[in-house]
Amino acid sequence: MKVLVLNAGSSSLKYQLIDMRDESLIAKGVCDRISLGGSFISQRAAGSDEVRYETPMPTHFEAIKEILKALVSPEFGVIKSLDEIAAVGHRVVHSGEDFTSAVLIDDRSIVRIESNYELAPLHMVPNITGMKACREVLPGVPQAAVFDTTFHATMPDYAYMYAIPYEDYRQYKIRKYGFHGTSHQFVSGEAAKLMGTDQIKTVVCHLGNGASVSAVKNGKCVDTSMGLTPLEGLIMGTRSGDIDPAVLQFLMDKTGMTIQEATDYLNKKSGVKGVSGVSSDFRDLIAAMDEGNDRARLAIEMFSYRVKKYIGSYAAAMGGLDCIAFTGGIGENTEIVRELVMKDMEYLGVDFDFKKNRNVKRGAVTALSTERSRVSVYIIPTNEELVIARETVKLKP
Ligand code: AMP
Repeated sequence: MKVLVLNAGSSSLKYQLIDMRDESLIAKGVCDRISLGGSFISQRAAGSDEVRYETPMPTHFEAIKEILKALVSPEFGVIKSLDEIAAVGHRVVHSGEDFTSAVLIDDRSIVRIESNYELAPLHMVPNITGMKACREVLPGVPQAAVFDTTFHATMPDYAYMYAIPYEDYRQYKIRKYGFHGTSHQFVSGEAAKLMGTDQIKTVVCHLGNGASVSAVKNGKCVDTSMGLTPLEGLIMGTRSGDIDPAVLQFLMDKTGMTIQEATDYLNKKSGVKGVSGVSSDFRDLIAAMDEGNDRARLAIEMFSYRVKKYIGSYAAAMGGLDCIAFTGGIGENTEIVRELVMKDMEYLGVDFDFKKNRNVKRGAVTALSTERSRVSVYIIPTNEELVIARETVKLKP
């Protein structure tokens, strides 16, 4: 059975076609610059070179048509007919409180999904457009919405509530939801396999350009660092993460920024980029630090310190810790961050293998704790698309 996974952004549409018999990737690609002019599609079939060409894509509707054309192309396609696509899984960023797991897309569920668009308009608008377009182009093919938030739906109320007047939680749905759920689900599931049981206390550190930590106890998420929006929690590429909310008013008084500008400032101009003045990309930051740039060092240390604090607080929240898993572009590839995070963690029962941490093979599951360590530490490369495909298969009639 072949499942098409779609991930719609504001001007892009990423896709993967996965063979669910062995969960292997058949092809992956992206339509980019949708609605911006100069739009193009690029596709790479497993084991082949990338094919890339420009084609007009005024909306996501044309983009989906282009993807289907590319998949069945006689020259570089990977399937003979669209009938081979058994189901489509859509990444949807926000479930609100309406869903606690993935859902089949039909007229009713799409209205409920739309009712949450205000919680993340930048992502939800393209998500919903993508779902609608795909239903039109592939009528009769079962489609599922797999949310970034639902893995965190098991958080207890005292963890997801903000201490604001309760009626505003009720009326406006203001609470912590968390994101990167498919990644936290995948990585905590793989950690449980490695540990031989899911009756464990795991902290998953998803460290990428967007970054979040989750506490997973006995297979269920009990806390996570992102909130109503992905701005809360860790320091990120360009996002501040946790900050005193009074900074907004202070900044607006001092600079004359509007609330929209101040929100943009925290989302797009802050994080390691804002602190370092160098870049949001850790490769650039490390290069700058190695050349003696002290603000790059500061940004890397601040980032790592925040991750360390979350691990400690989640060990407290779960009443202990059995496993720490690193994933995401930084978690998987940036040894200095893992080293700074794991330094002085012996009090938690962690015996980290600093030498091994410096010699990691890219893209592989790697144990970074010693034999003696009571807490296991792993790098586990994430696979969000596979979770979306698996959830889609579960729902397929
Ligand atoms: P992601 O959002 O998960 O794709 O992660 C992006 C982040 O991972 C960027 O900050 C990159 O600098 C970082 N990253 C990716 N590859 C490497 C690498 N080989 N060494 C250091 N950082 C990396």
